Amino acid sequence: MIIDLRSDTVTKPTAEMKEAMFSAPVGDDVFGEDPTVNALEEKAAKLFGMEAAIFCPSGTMTNQIAIRLHTRIQTEVICHKYSHIYLYEGGGIMSNSLASVNLLEGNLGKITAAQIEAAINPDDIHAPETTLVSLENTMNKGGGSIYRLDEIKPIRKMCDEHGLKLHLDGARLFNALVESGESPADWGAQFDTISICLSKGLGCPVGSLLLGSRADIKRARRVRKGFGGGMRQVGFLAAAGIYALDNHVKRLKEDHERARALGKMLGNLSFVSEVFPVATNIVIARLEGMSPEEFMKKLDEQQIKSVKFGPDLVRFVTHLNFGDEELGEFGKRISMI
Ligand SMILES: *Cc1c(COP(=O)(O)O)cnc(C)c1O
Repeated sequence: MIIDLRSDTVTKPTAEMKEAMFSAPVGDDVFGEDPTVNALEEKAAKLFGMEAAIFCPSGTMTNQIAIRLHTRIQTEVICHKYSHIYLYEGGGIMSNSLASVNLLEGNLGKITAAQIEAAINPDDIHAPETTLVSLENTMNKGGGSIYRLDEIKPIRKMCDEHGLKLHLDGARLFNALVESGESPADWGAQFDTISICLSKGLGCPVGSLLLGSRADIKRARRVRKGFGGGMRQVGFLAAAGIYALDNHVKRLKEDHERARALGKMLGNLSFVSEVFPVATNIVIARLEGMSPEEFMKKLDEQQIKSVKFGPDLVRFVTHLNFGDEELGEFGKRISMI
């Protein structure tokens, strides 16, 4: 048995999810006629108390559409230097939106209202105009760290004072919400746009949603078309999303419990100097006296897959297909390293 902890994107749809997909009514979504896509978009918008939503093939596309909506040429996005939108989206901020970035440092990938405010460019022709702040929750490079609503509210207030838009890369927002107990609607009230992924912890094969105002999502449909993201009978995939929102949110807690157990096991290894605090389903281990390549080779020999996450870091992500049996196996195999 291969234990694949490279990402929570590696999951396969469950039998029940497939059932929901195969029986979905579909239509041409570019004409706005796919009833299942429409139902998913309405359901998600309602859940977050936002006016509208748009279904897209990836979280990269939903983030990049949001950035296009909230920037113009010669403007700037403020975000953490380890943000997915900056590190892992193919340089899209530049190539899709001709915008610049202002990268901040912060503890476990998080940034504060005061830090952001200090980074806003003055009204000076030398500088790109700051128009957008983008946050990430949970924060992937911060080890799945969580922002609480109390940390967001001052950021929203400050953005309003400076006329800035606020976007959330919520690829793993539900992982944060099941831990904090905060409601999607309370989060929806704080942001201009929110991107959520269905293909991560929620276990869908494909799909992300961008949530926002009716006007922004209308513009987003044109941007999505321009990005080549207009899809046709895509209700088969939207059905997986509806199924996941109904059935796979609460169970994320299990992934978090297993991640904490996994973190403890890793922490006991002589060559692991630190495990980042395990807040959700991401476990990052810092190595000392062994390179990530060497450790990952030993893991590979035990049929455990992980990813290198920095010069001395290795990342493990728990998910739907990593159950108690796999956790037990992980423990056995790691003790042989
Ligand atoms: C996975 C991920 C995305 C979107 O990635 P896609 O693979 O394009 O769906 C965006 N932000 C974060 C933090 C992610 O982990």
